[in-house]
Amino acid sequence: MLCDDVKRIAYFFLDGTLGEQKKNDFSAHLNLCPECEARTKLHRRLRIFVRNRLARLTAPDRFKQRLMRTLRAVAAEWS
Ligand SMILES: [Zn+2]
Repeated sequence: MLCDDVKRIAYFFLDGTLGEQKKNDFSAHLNLCPECEARTKLHRRLRIFVRNRLARLTAPDRFKQRLMRTLRAVAAEWS
């Protein structure tokens, strides 16, 4: 797996929606590539932060989804 692949599927990995094989490839890459490891950690922290915030927010679901999409775009720019 290449760094570009890791970037592309990082969200699925963090969502836990990757297949077993891909998940293993992903983890194997993180062990070999400090850059991807650091980036994935950052994404995980961002997700947790956002999720905690959204959980306390009493906004409509549609608004939350839009916010999530915006944050994903921001995170993608960082990667
Ligand atoms: Zn990498």
